[in-house]
Formats: sequence, structure tokens, C-alpha cells
Amino acid sequence: GIEIENLHLAFGPTKVLTGVNLSIKPGEFFAFLGPSGSGKSTLLRSIAGFGPRPSGAIRIGGRDVLDLPPWKRNVGMVFQSYALWPHLSVQENVAFGLRERKLPGAEIARRVEEALDLVGLSHLAARMPNQLSGGQQQRIALARTVVIEPQVLLLDEPLSNLDASLRVQMRRELLALQRKLGLTTIFVTHDQEEANSTSDRMAVLDKGVIQQIGRPQELYDHPANLFVARFLGTAN
Ligand code: ATP
Ligand code: MG
Repeated sequence: GIEIENLHLAFGPTKVLTGVNLSIKPGEFFAFLGPSGSGKSTLLRSIAGFGPRPSGAIRIGGRDVLDLPPWKRNVGMVFQSYALWPHLSVQENVAFGLRERKLPGAEIARRVEEALDLVGLSHLAARMPNQLSGGQQQRIALARTVVIEPQVLLLDEPLSNLDASLRVQMRRELLALQRKLGLTTIFVTHDQEEANSTSDRMAVLDKGVIQQIGRPQELYDHPANLFVARFLGTAN
């Protein structure tokens, strides 16, 4: 699981995260919902180890990771703009993180094959990214992340560039993959329907402060404040 205690982060005078406390269970699918600029990406990047060091504590699998570099944190992140390396084939994109970790060639080949199988795109291994549809690129970005076998999967609006019907399909696939691999997952979105239909629990963030945490139904039935009620559209 993931434990976050009293996390604070500011860019100069701008407070972006203010006293974030959060505990996510192993294997849980947790959604983060909030308006643009509320600090969702900053929070995920902090967990992954990118950007400035926040104050507070972050533990992954019981281990304090705040002073560990990203590759030692056992996390995989799919970024908001899930840019694949344009000059590398699908296969090489997925292999990239394994090559960085200096694994033997035969193991890399086997794991890349498995990861591509998992997202159903083994047949596109030799393609270049610009020869893929948006949904296919998205699947490759996911394969590239799960291939490193992270304990924690961090997804920053991974479906936002897809059209509505593909979003729904990918959402199901993502959830199936997450369950299959038992990955502790944080899924950032500003689409409340998406958060509602996927997550075990969710949190609503505003201006770097968590407004409420709970099962989706709890938030809809009992919004903690006017912001949550308005954001979820339950205020009348
Ligand atoms: P969106 O839904 O638009 O992706 P978000 O919730 O992910 O928004 P963040 O990207 O976390 O929001 O940004 C939170 C705030 O921090 C914003 O006000 C943003 O301008 C600011 N911010 C983010 N990165 C930096 C940076 N490197 N330097 C200065 N300010 C930053
Ligand atoms: Mg963002």
C-alpha cells in the first residue's frame, strides 16, 4: 500500500499541496478527482519521485521513499501526455525501462512479449508510435509501465486523449489489468463518472487540500462540504 502523511509542497510562494494525508491499501484502485490546477499531477509526481522534494512522509510497501530516486520506489507512472519515444519502435519503447535497469537481453525479450500480450498488441511490436491510433499508443504506454513490474501504478489522466467510446472500453481494460496484476493504483481524472465507475475509493482535491475521501457512493450521498457537492453535481 501507500501511506502519505502531512505532505506539503510549494512552488515559490504558491502552495500546491497542503497537509495531504492518505492511506491506500494494497491492491486498491484509488481515484483522485479535482479541478484543473488542484494539484493532482503534482501529488502523483511527488509519489513517483519527480519534481521538488515535498515535506512530510511517503511510504510505499512500508518503506519510506521520500529520499529515494524514482527508479528505486517500485512505482510505475503513466504521464498525462503519455508520449512514447517517437524514434523507437513499440518493442523498444516497452523495453526501454528494462534496458535502463540493465537486465539480460533474453529476460527483456520475454518480459516485453508478456507485457504486449497483456495489452493485446503483440502483433504491433515492430510499429513506430506514429503508426498507432491513440488507443493503441495508450495501451503501449501502459505496457511500458507494467513491464517493470511496479508495486504501485500511478496513472495521470491516461484516458483523456481518447474519444468517449474508447475511453469506456479502455477503462474496463485498465481495471481488468489492475485486478489481474493486483497493483495498488492511483488514477487521476477530472471525469467524475470515470472515477465513480472504476474506483474502490476516491478523494476530491481542491487547491492542494483533500476535501473528502471515501467510497464513491459515500461522497455522492454525503458530500462533506459545498465544494464536494458542487463538484460532484449533487448540490441543489
Ligand atoms: P490539471 O487537471 O490541469 O492537470 P492538476 O490538478 O494536475 O491540473 P498540477 O499540475 O498539479 O494540477 O498543478 C497544480 C498547481 O501547481 C498549478 O497552479 C500549477 O500552475 C502549479 N505548478 C505545477 N508545476 C509547477 C512548477 N514546476 N512550477 C511552478 N508551478 C507549478
Ligand atoms: Mg494534471
